[in-house]
Amino acid sequence: MPAILPGSTIGFLGGGQLGRMTAFAARAMGYDVHVLDPDPGAPARGVATRFIEAPLDDADAIVKLAEGCAVLMPEIETISAEGMARAVAHAPVRPGAQVLHVIQDRARQKEWLAAHGFPLTPFRVVRAEADIERAASTLVGKCFVKTTTGGYDGRGQVRIEEPSGIRGAWQSLGARPVVVEQAVEIATELSVMVARRPSGSIAAFPPAANVHVDGILAWSVIPGVDDDALARRARDLASAIAESLGVEGLLCAEMFLTTGGELLVNELAPRPHNSYHETIEGCATSQFEQAVRAICDLPLGSTDSIRPAAIANLLGELWKDARAPDFMPVLKSPSTRLHLYGKRSARPGRKMGHVAALGDTTAQAVERAVSARNALARAAAVPEWIIRPA
Ligand code: ADP
Ligand code: MG
Repeated sequence: MPAILPGSTIGFLGGGQLGRMTAFAARAMGYDVHVLDPDPGAPARGVATRFIEAPLDDADAIVKLAEGCAVLMPEIETISAEGMARAVAHAPVRPGAQVLHVIQDRARQKEWLAAHGFPLTPFRVVRAEADIERAASTLVGKCFVKTTTGGYDGRGQVRIEEPSGIRGAWQSLGARPVVVEQAVEIATELSVMVARRPSGSIAAFPPAANVHVDGILAWSVIPGVDDDALARRARDLASAIAESLGVEGLLCAEMFLTTGGELLVNELAPRPHNSYHETIEGCATSQFEQAVRAICDLPLGSTDSIRPAAIANLLGELWKDARAPDFMPVLKSPSTRLHLYGKRSARPGRKMGHVAALGDTTAQAVERAVSARNALARAAAVPEWIIRPA
């Protein structure tokens, strides 16, 4: 199939902030953008020339989107299989249905990774009550119990002190299928974004280092690793996963670097990722432009880090009593940049935007981004984040 050139139309399955920022990049490159999302206030809507308001499992609506587009990109994992199967008669979906099938269920994803020899934390799948006993007898100490579907930003998971707590955790999560995972001693959380073209060529970005607060990404910085050998290991690991999965588009691998020096895969995302937003400021090519290049089978852009860059997330708790914060301090600072996603309503933990900052060093970039976020937190009487090395 030939490259999909500027002037063509890209359709987004899902119009959240990831779709919005990818759509900005696509529009800048001369593509037209259509968006399908159930929410009439979807962040990507304002960047699209056509908006289809429909659920992500509405196969007829997905076909309608595909009929007007040269390629479709899912910006969320939960797209209906039937919709994707029918859409491909009109336009390729990239990444494709088989990649989403593996990733959209946490148990299937982990089983796939294990079967392909990729390093993981020890885990057991509990599909029904009868599986609990066996899982409890083979895991030790602290564990994470995570639902196989529907979890994100730390939702749908419970940390337990020992395996005897599996039953209670499973019940509190609605007695649904879960993955029980051994807790590991984390030195650093890393992620690696990889782009792969349908024709096979691959490019990995430098690893990002990520800090979570209450299970949600708080801030992230690139380059996240100063040890070249470790950075290479992480990039090779993510590239090998993208290769084995046959990804067309982006794949982000979240990883744990353990205190013992092991690199373990935490989870995969077949789309742009929050931890790579700082590629807009800091890298030769943003993750969003790279997504467009990859799904359109254009030559991939350089993934070089040009300057240390960090982001700090702006979560809904900063919107006190549904009022947006006073952004003037961020806007006044010459070293920070404000990104807002245009979401109409805020709730605690909801990703509303981010602050990006460059620095002479990664520590300086982090300090600038997180301090700017903390100034908004102080004004909203929300706890500040303690700045520490990632
Ligand atoms: P989500 O889909 O919500 O991002 P994750 O599986 O990535 O779910 O878990 C969120 C965060 O919880 C991780 O980034 C990490 O900080 C922590 N966490 C998850 N699993 C483990 C584990 N096995 N050991 C230690 N920390 C973990
Ligand atoms: Mg995660």
